[in-house]
Amino acid sequence: MNLRKVTLLSLPADPRGMDLDLPASPETPPPDSDRSVAVVGGGAVGATAARDLARWDVDVTLFERDAVGAGATGRAAGIVYDAFAEDLDAAVADRALDRFRELSGTAEFELTDRPYVWFAREGDDRNAEAIREQVPRMRANGRDVDLLAPGEIADRWPTLCADDISVAAVAESSGTTTPSTYAAATAELAEADGATIETGTAARIETDPVAVRVGAERRQFDAVLVAAGARTPGLLADPGIELASEAYRVQALTVGVEAEDDEQRDRAAALPSFYDATGGYYARPKDGELLAGDGTEPVPADPDDWDRESDAWFRDDVLEKLSGRVDGVESTASDAWAGLCTATPDRNPLVGQVESGLFVATGFHGHGFMRAPAIGELVARQLCGADGIAAFDPARFDGRDEFEIVEGMALDEH
Ligand SMILES: Cc1cc2nc3c(=O)[nH]c(=O)nc-3n(C[C@H](O)[C@H](O)[C@H](O)COP(=O)(O)OP(=O)(O)OC[C@H]3O[C@@H](n4cnc5c(N)ncnc54)[C@H](O)[C@@H]3O)c2cc1C
Repeated sequence: MNLRKVTLLSLPADPRGMDLDLPASPETPPPDSDRSVAVVGGGAVGATAARDLARWDVDVTLFERDAVGAGATGRAAGIVYDAFAEDLDAAVADRALDRFRELSGTAEFELTDRPYVWFAREGDDRNAEAIREQVPRMRANGRDVDLLAPGEIADRWPTLCADDISVAAVAESSGTTTPSTYAAATAELAEADGATIETGTAARIETDPVAVRVGAERRQFDAVLVAAGARTPGLLADPGIELASEAYRVQALTVGVEAEDDEQRDRAAALPSFYDATGGYYARPKDGELLAGDGTEPVPADPDDWDRESDAWFRDDVLEKLSGRVDGVESTASDAWAGLCTATPDRNPLVGQVESGLFVATGFHGHGFMRAPAIGELVARQLCGADGIAAFDPARFDGRDEFEIVEGMALDEH
């Protein structure tokens, strides 16, 4: 398989000219909620779907092989934003942000408002042009996004070096959080609304009619959603269904930021999340440190056999880039790890029905957490008879032909 580098914060490119057709409130039930549903996978997407199904009085059981939030969700950086140039992506992000804000303060989950800044450095004309081109389109989608002069960066965030930045933009309505707390809070709400949550329970999928197998037991449901992250294609392969999605490995780290007094500490904590398009890495403040990433591997990963530890090349590369960007960054990572993301041939997710009663939600290209509250709701409604979104329909691909994971780093593809 021929794969090129994918980035964590890549964005779908194709104009789709569509909007989300969701009721104003997630509480509004879908056409037919009188059914039994199994959700396989307790990440941000599966937990959201289970929570919505439960509140619509659907008889829902969530199967999670480890603990809720133990997959990619628990390894994610927790950057959420709505800086999308395509209208459908913007609408998904808008719904997701609304829901994050509404949930903030529930159990351990808190969304911290934090602008998201992305920039190109001097000499990088391609990304500079892409940023200039995107911003008006994001604004046309109602996003609170604007170009930022380098002087404004220095004024707002004095410890963020802007000397070599040629073009920058800011999405003001963005935030950061700890993604596992979202999954946990959402699963708690699902349970409170009547969902059955079975953790430590690896499920398999059967069809004709659709069912979940746990060990020797076959359990039948009216519909099954597989939101099992990188394991989703493998689970569907059992009943012979091919899904156009590949897993790939990405890495992140945390690093301390030296601060001599409270003022310096406050400044470090108030930094925006940022993405250096020229350097191809991102960072955000977290608990007095910086959390940064872009250790993307340009090869498909085996969801049953992959390296959860970080690589030295990744740590060296990101720490070197950060050291010139933010004042006081220490030279050694305090923690570092890897996780799996999921790719599709056109960088749009696979959300919808693959066979009678069998639904999937995967293929989020490193944007799965920030879209989970909307995608989970969307697929939960589909499970109850609502229409899906054509651009996300898994049936738009014929099987699992080899595909090239498209370079998502270039901002001119936003
Ligand atoms: C390092 C890193 C940083 C990231 N940063 C961001 C970010 O800042 N913002 C963002 O939006 N996205 C980010 N992402 C991407 C994001 O983590 C994912 O897109 C998102 O979490 C996917 O959620 P999910 O629910 O689809 O999958 P997952 O969170 O992977 O959940 C799937 C669940 O299914 C379970 N499962 C698997 N097989 C079975 C089975 N047979 N039976 C039962 N359960 C099963 C797994 O244990 C897992 O808990 C990042 C990813 C990584 C790795």
